Amino acid sequence: MKRNTWQREAVREALGHTEGFVSAQGLHATLHATGSPIGLATVYRALATLAATGDADSLQSPEGESLYRACSTNDHHHHLICRKCGLTVEIEADSVETWAKNVAAQNGFTQAAHVVDVFGLCAGCTQAAAHV
Ligand SMILES: [Zn+2]
Ligand SMILES: [Zn+2]
Ligand SMILES: [Zn+2]
Repeated sequence: MKRNTWQREAVREALGHTEGFVSAQGLHATLHATGSPIGLATVYRALATLAATGDADSLQSPEGESLYRACSTNDHHHHLICRKCGLTVEIEADSVETWAKNVAAQNGFTQAAHVVDVFGLCAGCTQAAAHV
């Protein structure tokens, strides 16, 4: 057992209880609220490790912040993310897969990979915004 295993487990657990994508700061605040003494730097490292091992999905917000989520599947998929409340929907995008493969092949690229995530306002937040 590595000495920091309990910390990574705590982070994995907290991430599993989080609905949408969350930043290291956000998750650290959640852990702190439950009385965990875990440090922010440790949360950053644990999230990076979970992302590297495929235990968590990671992506960049439009503001350039790294966000993480324990997704329901390790298979390749895309996300719709509400930039207001963080609601996340996992989506398949067959037309994107085909397009990415074709455009890579046309340019002589092999082993092409892509990241496509769509940020917007979810239905609930759109309605709430309309009522302000
Ligand atoms: Zn996902
Ligand atoms: Zn929303
Ligand atoms: Zn794809």
